[in-house]
Amino acid sequence: MSDEGKAKLVMALRKAGVTDTAVLGAIEKLPRDVFVPAHFRHAAYDDVALPIGHGQTVSRPAVVGLMTEALCLTPRTKVLEIGTGSGYQTAVLAMLSRRVYTIERHRPLLAMAEQRFGQLKLFNITTRAGDGTLGWKAQAPFQCIIVTAAAADVPPVLADQLAEGGAMVVPIGSDYASQAIVKVVREGSGFTTKEMRAVPFVPLVPADTAREAV
Ligand code: SAH
Repeated sequence: MSDEGKAKLVMALRKAGVTDTAVLGAIEKLPRDVFVPAHFRHAAYDDVALPIGHGQTVSRPAVVGLMTEALCLTPRTKVLEIGTGSGYQTAVLAMLSRRVYTIERHRPLLAMAEQRFGQLKLFNITTRAGDGTLGWKAQAPFQCIIVTAAAADVPPVLADQLAEGGAMVVPIGSDYASQAIVKVVREGSGFTTKEMRAVPFVPLVPADTAREAV
């Protein structure tokens, strides 16, 4: 894809309210066409969500930008991502943090994402096929957690795996019309929760169902 297409995407992200230059830089650098099915490549640099199979979508770049920016990543951050999907959001996180742990319930999607990580030489990503609602206890606590599928409520198991001062972004709401991205910060013995903005996501599938799909 031409640099012009990528530059246009960055302009769209700025318009949508993404301001962090490191996040914008990572999105400008990353070839999104690698993460979408061949027949959608013409739209890879449009600011739209696109189907990736198994009834799932790669999120809109503006949403990826806003959620990533909200995490305040540094090169020392250890991140947990629930819902690898195409691996696009994972790759953006990997470019801006020390290591990303990512969980996906659909094995075929995860296998394709892993291939892309290798192709792009992103070696700081650890993957797992399984139920993300359980988090990744052996690697907890995490400074940042990102959930890329909508949950009915803030998943308590994931909140528990946040480090002190750590942040989690998660889309909350059970129907498309009423979903919003929520930022949860662990402070002392409690959590503060802030609603960021309304946005539609595919659902986070609860534990029992998720186990069957792997
Ligand atoms: N970040 C992805 C978005 C993928 S859509 C991207 O940029 O492409 C959300 C993903 O969450 C889907 O792939 C879906 O299969 C996955 N998902 C939903 N519930 C899950 C669960 N309980 N555990 C792990 N993955 C889950």
